[in-house]
Amino acid sequence: MTNSDFHRSATSLVSRVVGNGATARWIRAHFDYSETDWCLLWPFGRNENGYGLFGDRPKVKVHRIMCEYRNGPPPEKQPEAAHSCGNGHLGCVNPMHLSWKSRSENLKEMYQQGRKPMRYKLTPVQVDEIRALKNRARPDEIAKQFGVTQSTIREIHAGRIWKHDRKDHRIFTEDEIRLIRATHWREKNAEKFSKEFGVSISTIHRIRAGDSYGWVTP
Ligand SMILES: [Zn+2]
Repeated sequence: MTNSDFHRSATSLVSRVVGNGATARWIRAHFDYSETDWCLLWPFGRNENGYGLFGDRPKVKVHRIMCEYRNGPPPEKQPEAAHSCGNGHLGCVNPMHLSWKSRSENLKEMYQQGRKPMRYKLTPVQVDEIRALKNRARPDEIAKQFGVTQSTIREIHAGRIWKHDRKDHRIFTEDEIRLIRATHWREKNAEKFSKEFGVSISTIHRIRAGDSYGWVTP
């Protein structure tokens, strides 16, 4: 049986992702997500341990759906969808971070991940937010809000880590944010703003969508 045959079979979790609800559409849009460096965080409901949930009766863990989509059905002796990033508890559902493991392999990895610095703790949007909060909030409070250490916050603020995203290091004033949001895209598209402010086009999109600088009121 091929992977796509399996995905249509009754036992497949992927086969349950039907309909036009926001959650189903989000999952389908991210099945082929191929960014390996970042965690992909589930933006909807999560269980008490932080894992993303989909559907009803029964609810299904989203990371298992993603793992199945990418890797096919779980081998009999490897029933657990394990995160290479260690961020299952933060709602990571990145298919590239998931593989089937045995219970003991998974526990061993989780133990090891708990003892070494995590590589995939933050998303680009979160890094933007952290940068924007420099000198606006106390580092210990920012750290608590994003679930990382204070030293991570200081390193980001000092520009010592996440340097590959350095192009977007610019801090916007609230007036600039309002200007970007208030200007109709026909009048000035994201590319023009990105040139004007020296940031990536995706940064402008995130500002417009309210994913970055969400606290700035119109
Ligand atoms: Zn991840």
